[in-house]
Amino acid sequence: MEPNPADPQHPPSPAEQPQASPAPAEPPRDCPLCPRLAEYRAANRVAHPDWFNAPVPGWGDPKAWLCVVGLAPGVTGANRTGRPFTGDHAGLLLYATLAKFGLSHGVFDARPDDGLVLDGVFISNAVRCVPPENKPVPAEIHTCRQFLTAQLAALPNLKVVLALGTIAHQSAVKALGGKLPKVPFAHAAVHRLHTGYTLVDSYHCSRYNTNTGRLTAPMFEEAFAAAIAAR
Ligand code: SF4
Repeated sequence: MEPNPADPQHPPSPAEQPQASPAPAEPPRDCPLCPRLAEYRAANRVAHPDWFNAPVPGWGDPKAWLCVVGLAPGVTGANRTGRPFTGDHAGLLLYATLAKFGLSHGVFDARPDDGLVLDGVFISNAVRCVPPENKPVPAEIHTCRQFLTAQLAALPNLKVVLALGTIAHQSAVKALGGKLPKVPFAHAAVHRLHTGYTLVDSYHCSRYNTNTGRLTAPMFEEAFAAAIAAR
């Protein structure tokens, strides 16, 4: 079922309101294509009826030259709030870094209605529905790629994709028409794809990666600097 602004049971995502996705690239709110994730979504709707609990739409500037692609919504983050990287730890470093590079304006306050605006940037995920334990299985990643592919295709000014983590990297390579064996993941690596897009990699800005030092703020900024240089 498509979101219906007139239906309070199926309101549009907050992300669709101030900066609507350019998509026909959004899955329906009750997308049934991944049974395990649909079951988890249903359980979350029962346990937390005030949460978003649906495929989280991409969000940002429809004129974006850069698309940041994450893995999947966090259960208490984007799955709760309806905006990518909003409401849990993973968004803290991402939105701070966007602000530092002048890629957003307004103040990030971890709420979809915080008034933050992205400038030249769009944010999406390889998998739109929250997976149990943050771990989508390969079939789910494969099935949801159609929406990532459509979303990237719907950004007319897109030049660079910044993939957060190996799964996002692999999905982005395929969504952009690249060949995986020729494009290995490495932090801050810059891949010029034959389809004309540039893919830049970063370790994911998850709580685990930032707490363990696998990803530091300077490392993340290095990846963003590479993305800006590749524009
Ligand atoms: S992860 Fe994607 S394909 Fe799977 S149910 Fe959710 S929206 Fe549909």
